Amino acid sequence: MNFRLPPLPLRTLQAFFFLLLGTLFASTQACAEIEVVASFSILGDLAREVGGERVTVAALVGPDQDAHVYEPRPSDARRAGRARLIVTNGLGYDDWLPRLARSAGYTGTFAIASAGIRPLSMDKSDAHHEHTGHDERIDPHAWQDVRNVQTYVDNIAAALIAADPGGADTYRSNAARYRDELARLDAEIRAAIARLPPARRQVVSSHDAFTYFARAYGLRFLAPAGVAGNAEPGARALARLIAQLRREKAPVFLENINDPRLMERIRNESGVAAGGTLYSDALSIASGPAPTYLAMMRHNLATLMTALEAP
Ligand SMILES: [Zn+2]
Repeated sequence: MNFRLPPLPLRTLQAFFFLLLGTLFASTQACAEIEVVASFSILGDLAREVGGERVTVAALVGPDQDAHVYEPRPSDARRAGRARLIVTNGLGYDDWLPRLARSAGYTGTFAIASAGIRPLSMDKSDAHHEHTGHDERIDPHAWQDVRNVQTYVDNIAAALIAADPGGADTYRSNAARYRDELARLDAEIRAAIARLPPARRQVVSSHDAFTYFARAYGLRFLAPAGVAGNAEPGARALARLIAQLRREKAPVFLENINDPRLMERIRNESGVAAGGTLYSDALSIASGPAPTYLAMMRHNLATLMTALEAP
C-alpha cells in the first residue's frame, strides 16, 4: 500500500495560516474583556452602561425572574467563579451571591451597588419578610428611587476602575453620561406625578417593592403580598383591603415577577380598575417594554399615569 495525500496548494496553506492567526487574535480580544457577574437584571444593565465595550456582563437572575426565590444553577456558580468583578445590590437582597461565588473559587471583591444610600426600613406591621436577608427590617428595593441609582452607578464605576485601572477614563465618562440620563429621568418622574391631584396618588401592587419610589416621588402603594412577594394575606387583611379599595378606587397593578392570581382576585372583588403591569425587581426580555433600567422606569411611569389620570 503506497498512497499519498495530494500536496496542498501553497495558497490554501497561506489562507489557512491567516485564518488561524485571525482566530487566535479574536480569542485574545475576547479574553481581554472584563467578565462581570451581577446578581439580577437591573444591576446587569447598570454594569453594562458603565462598563461599555470593555466588559461582558452576566446577570444571574434574568429578565422577568424573581431574585427573592432564586435557586442557583451549576452554570451560575461557574460564571461567578471565573468573574473578574461581582456586583451585588446588598441590603439583604442577594446575600446568596457572595456565598455562591466563594464556593466556586472567586477571590475578587464584591461591589455593593447600594453602599452609601440611606436605606428605608420596612413597615413592621407587615409580618412576612423571611426572604429578605439578615436584617429583616431593611427594604432592599432601593433602585426604585432614581437618585439612589446615581449612587449605584458611582459604586459600580469605582469597582470597575479598581478591577481594571486601564479602563478608568472609559468608566468615568460612561458613568458621567449615564448619570445625566438618570437626572433627566428623575426630573421626568417628578414633573409627571406633580400633575396628579393628591387624591389620585394611591395604587395597589402585589409585593412591597415600591416604597423607595413612593417616598421619592409622592405616591402611596398598598402591597398585599409583602416585601418578598410570597406572603398570602390573611382573609381578614384581604377583606379590609378590598373594602378600602371600594371606597378609594385605587387602581390595581400586576408585576412582571409575581403570580397574578392574588391581584386578579382583589380586582374582581373590589371592582377597581386594572392598571397594567409594573416592573419591580427585574427587566423585561429585550423585545419587551422594559429591557433597560431607563426603559423600565419610563414604562412604569407611563403605566401609572395612564391609570391615575383616567377619568
Ligand atoms: Zn422584591
